[in-house]
Amino acid sequence: KAKDRKYKRILLKLSGEELMGDGDFGIDPKVLDKMALEIGQLVGIGVQVGLVIGGGNLFRGKALSEAGLDRVAGDHMGMLATVMNALAMRDALERANISSRVMSAIPMSGIVDHYDRRQAVRCLANNEVLIFAAGTGNPFFTTDSAASLRGIEIEADIVLKATKVDGVYTADPMKDPAAVMYDRLSYDEVLDKKLGVMDLTSICLVRDHGMPVRVFRMSKAGALLNIVVGDNEGTLIEE
Ligand code: UDP
Repeated sequence: KAKDRKYKRILLKLSGEELMGDGDFGIDPKVLDKMALEIGQLVGIGVQVGLVIGGGNLFRGKALSEAGLDRVAGDHMGMLATVMNALAMRDALERANISSRVMSAIPMSGIVDHYDRRQAVRCLANNEVLIFAAGTGNPFFTTDSAASLRGIEIEADIVLKATKVDGVYTADPMKDPAAVMYDRLSYDEVLDKKLGVMDLTSICLVRDHGMPVRVFRMSKAGALLNIVVGDNEGTLIEE
């Protein structure tokens, strides 16, 4: 018997890099299929899932501007990259028989729906997996900010931020073997210690609205389901 869910509605943030698998650019459909199955398990126990996917596997405005492109043009490209990732994820979900929908902050008639908060809440209540694409629709923001924003708008119980490491550490665990993972942090600790787990805009948004965030490693088998049934995985950021 499946354990009882702790959360009724979640906002899951996946970075674009999560979709690359072992590659260093683009999308690995096998990774998407695996994610679709894990998301399907959540839907199976009655969890409503909103998804924000980044675009860093394709384009980032900041990197493009450092290479000489106009920043706003680069950010527009970054946002379009998130739409491509969302289409790939929708495809993986549909192939796994999980009903889903993409809503973009930038209207793109004929390809995806335009974001509408009331409709979004209706879709979620109808157990459709809802993918929020094109970030916030504005340059100079990130998809972390979009995750905080949409999480708050749809009144999610929690924002789950998937990363490559198990949680938030005292230092970069890839570089510093003495780094220790936090089980819990307050919003202010994240800001004071400059932990850089999310950008300032996104952390301020969740802090101002008391939205809890859990940082965890998506590639850890079962981690996502564990969190949703109330187990301790990764780092919880809250008041
Ligand atoms: N972006 C933007 N506004 C937003 C969200 C994203 O301009 O509200 C652009 C920005 O250029 C960003 C890119 O889209 O670098 C991809 O998003 P992000 O870097 O957050 O992706 P991730 O690191 O999560 O893969």
